[in-house]
Amino acid sequence: MNKQNWRRRLHRVGWWFSPPRCPLCQRVVAPFARCKECLPEQRKLQMPEGKCSLSVEGVENIFCFWQYKDLIRHGILQMKFQKMPWQAENFVLLILSHKGAYTFIRQFDIIVPVPSRKRKLHGRGYDVPRLLAQAISMAVGIPVAPKGTLVKIKDTPRQVGLDGEQRRKNLQDAFSVENATPLLEKRVLIVDDVVTTGTTAKEVAKALHKAGVDHVGLWVLAQAEP
Ligand SMILES: [Zn+2]
Repeated sequence: MNKQNWRRRLHRVGWWFSPPRCPLCQRVVAPFARCKECLPEQRKLQMPEGKCSLSVEGVENIFCFWQYKDLIRHGILQMKFQKMPWQAENFVLLILSHKGAYTFIRQFDIIVPVPSRKRKLHGRGYDVPRLLAQAISMAVGIPVAPKGTLVKIKDTPRQVGLDGEQRRKNLQDAFSVENATPLLEKRVLIVDDVVTTGTTAKEVAKALHKAGVDHVGLWVLAQAEP
């Protein structure tokens, strides 16, 4: 058994002490199981077949599980801003209970989380896209690109409250692949928490293509209305 499999096994033993919870209502659930309590509410916000209504330049396929509204928005904001980093794994386990999510991820060879701003990381102490990527990796067995593979070279202001054109200018050429070796001849999956206009994903895909990556996909928890 390789190192990755051992890590996954040990990780699963941890669920015995600290079982997965529904990221939306905090009830204990079995790993990869749906929460019966808030399933009807969740279903109302679920995207049919994980299909996002956006198309993003340079990104071949997108998997998006929910609309960014009501209890979904609340759960994601809690994970991001209320010091609840463990929620990333709970979100991933819940979404992977959906067969389509699993099948989608299996098309890729490596995961690249969207890099966060340095200032943001220092304020929060954790990096949400990286935590989501690590949880996917642990569950599905696809590696995450090492830190420093893709970096944010421009420390841009927050995107919230900006319109499409402002977002585009703000993020133009903001990302760069510093080490292309782990990505060579790989199908790369970008992971982020929320997609709004798709500008971030577009710029990340641009940097990946520039480094020679052919196939780029995107996986997000939810799609927000601009
Ligand atoms: Zn629930």
